[in-house]
Order: sequence, then structure tokens, then C-alpha cells
Amino acid sequence: MEKIPVGVIGATGMVGQNYLRLLDNHPWFEVTYLAASPRSAGKSYAEAVAGRWVMDADIPVPVSGLTVHDAAKIEEAKDQCAFVFSSVELDKKAIRETEEAYAAAGIPVVSNNSAHRGTPDVPVLIPEINPDHIDIIPQQQKKRGWDKGFVVVKPNCSVQSYMAPMQALREAGYPVVRAFVATLQAVSGAGYPGHSSLDMIDNVIPFINGEEEKSEKEPLKIFGKIENGEFVDDKSISITAHCNRVPVIDGHLACVSLEFGDKKPSIDQIEKIWTDYRSVPQELGLPLAPEHPIVVRQENNRPQPRKDRDCEKAMAVTVGRLRGCNLLDCRFVGLSHNTVRGAAGGGILNAELLKAKGYL
Ligand code: NAP
Repeated sequence: MEKIPVGVIGATGMVGQNYLRLLDNHPWFEVTYLAASPRSAGKSYAEAVAGRWVMDADIPVPVSGLTVHDAAKIEEAKDQCAFVFSSVELDKKAIRETEEAYAAAGIPVVSNNSAHRGTPDVPVLIPEINPDHIDIIPQQQKKRGWDKGFVVVKPNCSVQSYMAPMQALREAGYPVVRAFVATLQAVSGAGYPGHSSLDMIDNVIPFINGEEEKSEKEPLKIFGKIENGEFVDDKSISITAHCNRVPVIDGHLACVSLEFGDKKPSIDQIEKIWTDYRSVPQELGLPLAPEHPIVVRQENNRPQPRKDRDCEKAMAVTVGRLRGCNLLDCRFVGLSHNTVRGAAGGGILNAELLKAKGYL
């Protein structure tokens, strides 16, 4: 199969580097175009990231010599790639304008950024949970006068560890009506170099700007439905979140309590539902899909970021400590890799779904 040429805008950042690492030898996609800020433009990729390549593996050989372009010069991307992954760090308005300009130029955008998550006709996609939300793309294109281009985004990294567990329970007939979530989020979530070591070592920071609002709101859109060309939130669930930054490099942990409606599953039923859970990416055999989207650990001290974040190509959600709750109906701990499932890996899985469904 001939590979699809793809671009990464924001290629020099923490998420961009993860894209390049994960796309190296991808069976469907080949990186042919890189873009970042004017500071990096004109340099080879290796020169642009000199001294700030933070992946353990070396820079993939096929991209190290590619020239980095200015992400604002969209005409340079035309004919170079069939679509782009977006992981630029800019103010929200500038991100929206940049992503829309790529889409208007006929280049679909699979984004990591939060800027378009609230846009009524832009899907916030987790392929296991709401794969049908990509059905809005023709309406998005028609409304905006776009021909081949479109924008699809992925949700915030902090929600990953409890969305699949809640979806599995919904599908099994046990919808969650209230969720209490306290996250312990890794420093890589703030990009590179992020917080200083003096801020983080021996410390926990009980505030991440905007994170609690995203954690509470984005799930309602993901669980929502399309009506008249726009997404309508599912208001049957309410979530309250406390988000904390902790001195862990990768892997966001969430301590979660759930309340169900009238029909309540037993702890054994929940465990079986999670263990058996499979969805569209698994049925389609998407290359980066984990075989088991939810992995249940029995040990009373798991999941742990260091031991469990790389489970199933770092794409699975690992859950443990499933037990009753004195306030709501059950509680558990969930973990997902924030820069893989929560960022670049989640973006690539979105693109794989879009390709499998004929949108790319
Ligand atoms: P980062 O390490 O700070 O990287 C930022 C990227 O944006 C770099 O490639 C940078 O290019 C580029 N950039 C900055 N100013 C620009 C400009 N004026 N024009 C074009 N490109 C510009 O940030 P990150 O952690 O990779 O995050 C990127 C985005 O993904 C953010 O919106 C973030 O919220 C989101 N996200 C991050 C995570 C995570 O776990 N880190 C998870 C989910 C979503 P230069 O190198 O040339 O400056």
C-alpha cells in the first residue's frame, strides 16, 4: 500500500516529537512536511530541535533532514502532504485561525489543541467512544465552504483515564450520572521545558490552568449527539474535577468515584464489563489501537505511572483499586499515558479511524 504523506505542525514541541517518534515506520502514514514557529523555520529538523529533543529514541532518520517550515505559510504545505497533525502552542484564536486556514486550503487537520474543542461542528474524538461523530464532517465542510479540508480534534489528556471506563458501563446499560475525579498529572503535560525542577521536586501543585473546566465539560460533548449539524451535550452526567500537577514525567492518574442511575452494577459486573470491552478501533484492527482498551489490574497498588503507562503501546487505559464507595456507588484509579494516548497516539488513532472510514 502506498503511504499517505502527512505533515506535523508544531513538530518541534513535546507532542510534535512524540508524533514523529510514533509515526516512524507507520504502516499507513509517512511524514513529509514539518512546521513550527518562525524561530525554527528554514532549519533542518535536527538543527531546530538541537538541545531539546526529549524522546529516549534518536530523531527518526527520515525526518531529521527535513526542512522545518513556518506553520503560517500554508501555501508551502500544499502538495507536500495530504493532511496535518496539529500540535502548535499559540493563543486559542491564532490556533483556530491557523487550523481553519489549513482546512480551507484543502488540508484536513487532526488536532491536539483545545482551541476547537468547543466549536459546535468540530468533533472531539476518542475512536473507542464516539467514532460516529465523524459523520458531521460533510456538514462541517458544507457550512464552511471547504472542499476536502476539515478539522477534527482530540480531547484533553486528563479525561482519557476515565472516559473509556464510563463508556463501557454506558454501553452495558449502566450510565454514570455523577463522577468525582481527582487527577495527578505528569509534568510532560505542560510541554518542554514546562515547570522548573524547583517548582516540582518535593512538591504537588494543586492547580492546572483551565484543566478542571476541560475535564468537566469535554466529556459531555464526547457523550453527546449530532443535531442539525451541531453537537448537543449529554447533560445526563455531571462531573466535578480536582486537577493536580505531580512530579511524574509521563502518565496521568485519576482517582474516580462514580454514581449510576437506578440500575447499579455490582463490582464484579463492572470488572467483567471493563475486561471484555472492545470497540470500533479493535474491530477495524487500526494499527495503533490497543488490543484491550481497558486493562484491569488486580494488585492493590496498581496502576502506577512508571509500571503501567506503556501498557499496550501506551494506548490502553489501566484501571485498578476497583471497590465500593462511601459517597457514590464505586471508585477506582485510572491511568493513561498523557503524551501518547492523551496526545500524539490519540491523534494518530483518530487519523487511522478517518482513513479507515474514507475521510483521508
Ligand atoms: P510545546 O512543547 O511547548 O511545543 C509547542 C510547539 O508549538 C512547538 O513546535 C513550537 O515551535 C510551536 N509554536 C510556538 N509558537 C508558534 C508560532 N508562533 N507559530 C507556529 N508554531 C509555534 O507544547 P506541547 O506540549 O507539544 O503542546 C502542544 C499543544 O498540544 C498545546 O496546545 C497543548 O495544550 C496540547 N497538548 C499537550 C499535551 C501534553 O501532554 N504535552 C497533551 C494534549 C494536548 P518552536 O519550537 O519553533 O517554538
